Amino acid sequence: MTYISTRGGTEPMGFQEAVITGLAPDGGLLIPSNIPDVRDKLDYWKTLSYQEVTFEVMRLFVDLPDADLKTLIDRSYAPFSHPEIAPAIPVGDLQIVELFHGPTLAFKDIALQFLSNFYDYILQRTDRKLNILGSTSGDTGSAAIHGIRGKDRMNIFIMHPHGRVAPLQEKQMTSVLDANVFNLAIEGTFDDCQRIMKSIFNDLPFKTKYALGSVNSVNWARVLAQVVYYFSAGLYVLDQSKARAVRFSVPTGNFGDILAGYYAKRMGLPISQLILATNENDILARFFNTGVYSVGDVVSTISPSMDIQVASNFERYLFYRVGEDGARLRTMMDDFARTGSLSLPVKKGQRVDPLFTAGVGRTADTLATIRRYHERYGYLLDPHSAVGVYVGEQNRAAGEPMICLATAHPAKFKQAILDATGQDLAHHVLLDRLKDARSRCEVLPAEVKAVRDFVAKHAL
Ligand SMILES: *Cc1c(COP(=O)(O)O)cnc(C)c1O
Repeated sequence: MTYISTRGGTEPMGFQEAVITGLAPDGGLLIPSNIPDVRDKLDYWKTLSYQEVTFEVMRLFVDLPDADLKTLIDRSYAPFSHPEIAPAIPVGDLQIVELFHGPTLAFKDIALQFLSNFYDYILQRTDRKLNILGSTSGDTGSAAIHGIRGKDRMNIFIMHPHGRVAPLQEKQMTSVLDANVFNLAIEGTFDDCQRIMKSIFNDLPFKTKYALGSVNSVNWARVLAQVVYYFSAGLYVLDQSKARAVRFSVPTGNFGDILAGYYAKRMGLPISQLILATNENDILARFFNTGVYSVGDVVSTISPSMDIQVASNFERYLFYRVGEDGARLRTMMDDFARTGSLSLPVKKGQRVDPLFTAGVGRTADTLATIRRYHERYGYLLDPHSAVGVYVGEQNRAAGEPMICLATAHPAKFKQAILDATGQDLAHHVLLDRLKDARSRCEVLPAEVKAVRDFVAKHAL
């Protein structure tokens, strides 16, 4: 498989190069040059374990020897605490797929464990080192740190806005004491962290000298690792229910998770609807209901990992919507960067995309859903998963099982659980243990120079 840019200006490259490159040099995102059709494999795949399905899906997209790919997959999912990795749990008439059994209890572990091990593998084979630089407002930084800790060819530098990350999430990052992990608390906002990161990555001589790499959500390896659970859960539920198609409801922020579902559908998994669920930050829901994608202000909610306006993975989907025309997409994205808005023509009486149904779960809906699922079924949803369940419930159809993706363990969001149920129910041994854990963190001013100097001093 080769990879091309959504904006048409990059020579095709292999998987390894695509993963290391991250963002395409022409400013677009890297995508596979074709989408394999797997329909004749599904009867076989439904008999496989999670790791085996991962192997079957990934080998269609990578340029690695089979034995190496197998080792990477086994290593990546060994730290998960559930033997099925991403089990489907029947709750009421929904199927809840728990994606939070990794080391940081959020679904980002599924992709970042794999990406970290993949980097490690490439670095060993090529005898190189890498310094990861990233910024986070919560889950991503933590999952990346837990992926890269202890790997001897990589250092990781993660910025977070000082005092502005949920205390538990901050502790999840700063309590990792491995020598190759550097938590940088920036005296500013998340936007300051992003600005500093972009400025450092744009300094190409610095980037090259210190072999800087990233783990951000546009990396193709992250999308690929997420395609897998659509197959594993979808095939399991299809087999159990004897239905002909399933629906997936997906709590959405950067459009990475649901994009993986879109690829699974294009590969031939019988998905009849992808239900896109947002919180009050509803740019994507507005797009799928009107065809207009226009940026609003970000508001803070109880599902912070979905507090996003510009969805970094959306460009991949748009590429297919403009007839895979890179030049046309480039013009659209340039206009969008200037005006903050773009739109697709929608014929009267038609949907923007018949595959996608979009809805919004607001704070009150989210809390009510958590309360109701706890009272009725004794099942605790985290606020992100509850947004997906709320919108999923409204879009059920007879004969088509509804699969709701649960993206975080409820214990990560104690306050929301307390507000919803009136009880202190949200616990997990990994998090309870953090209370007394030692932590290490460097406080730096919100200045590019301070971060640059720190990285230069501590880089491998
Ligand atoms: C990142 C995240 C999301 C959103 O996923 P996207 O791929 O950005 O759409 C939802 N829930 C949780 C808990 C997350 O960490």
